[in-house]
Amino acid sequence: MADLHIHSTFSDGTESIEEIVNIFGETGFDVIAITDHLFDTQTSRSLEIHEEGKSIKDVQSYFKKIDEVAHWAKQHFGLLVIPGLEICNLSEDYHILGLDLKEPIDPNQEAEGVIDDIHRQGGLAIASHPPLKLSFFLQGDNESIRRHPLHLWKHRAKYFNKIDAWEIANRDDLFDRVALEGLPYIACSDFHDREHLSSWKSLIFSEKETEAIKRAIRERELSLFYFSEKRRDRKPVPIRVGEEGAASTGSSDGKGHKKILIADDEKDLVELIRYHLTAKGYSVFTAFNGLEAWEKIQMEKPDAIVLDLMMPDLDGWDLCQMIRRSEHKDISLCSDRRII
Ligand SMILES: [Zn+2]
Ligand SMILES: [Zn+2]
Repeated sequence: MADLHIHSTFSDGTESIEEIVNIFGETGFDVIAITDHLFDTQTSRSLEIHEEGKSIKDVQSYFKKIDEVAHWAKQHFGLLVIPGLEICNLSEDYHILGLDLKEPIDPNQEAEGVIDDIHRQGGLAIASHPPLKLSFFLQGDNESIRRHPLHLWKHRAKYFNKIDAWEIANRDDLFDRVALEGLPYIACSDFHDREHLSSWKSLIFSEKETEAIKRAIRERELSLFYFSEKRRDRKPVPIRVGEEGAASTGSSDGKGHKKILIADDEKDLVELIRYHLTAKGYSVFTAFNGLEAWEKIQMEKPDAIVLDLMMPDLDGWDLCQMIRRSEHKDISLCSDRRII
């Protein structure tokens, strides 16, 4: 059980490295990587980020600290702690995780140089959160960021043989296109806070040893899973979706039944889900491709959508983006099948 993207108080995380080891050790994880931010100093925003303390100030003491804590983590929990960095550059717009590093990497250079430097140290270069999410928050430039993903994904053809793995899942996001394009992938929490323990994680099939883990990631000997801390107040998803949808949109079919749209091109599956949801008292609508789903959303304003991510015409991923950017952005969404 692995989580290889974790931020501590050395950059913008809320927990110290010791606390992180306690949290993951007590939860039964086998391997974690500490990957605090190292930002460039080329833009005014990245200089602000340095001032805000979101970038490591003293890289030497950062590595020293990880080394000390790693010994204790191994003895106390049998937890392997890998030293790493998240190298971020706002000019070229990339975030790259370097795993198993011993020395700093210069973030004031093109992505290619960063990847080469990571490999020179024997480390693993992972493209962090290849879609747009975090860059959007950091730059605050909504329009331009909304229109393009991070540099590495945009120019992925150039990086096919350079990047060791793409972060297909980051916290709650799942970016299925990486798997669809057949690229090596990994899932991490991008942990900044205790609550991020519940998130996508990787199950790596290898010995608990750094070289073996790096090899397994390169050779795709891993699978993804969503790690959830047990909570007594957690309810089954369909019920929670209905209640939340009602609270946010207030729509129903006039008889007080919450409306759910099922969008999937497999008719048998749609019928099966429709049968179960109707039996639970929901008012159910169906669509068999993305465009039809988009039309039904406008017409029926459902409270929730059960969505297939791979549909003809307009796929579920694009549909999600359209919904989130429209007046229907509060509709609850869930997928009806495993994506990978
Ligand atoms: Zn990042
Ligand atoms: Zn991060």
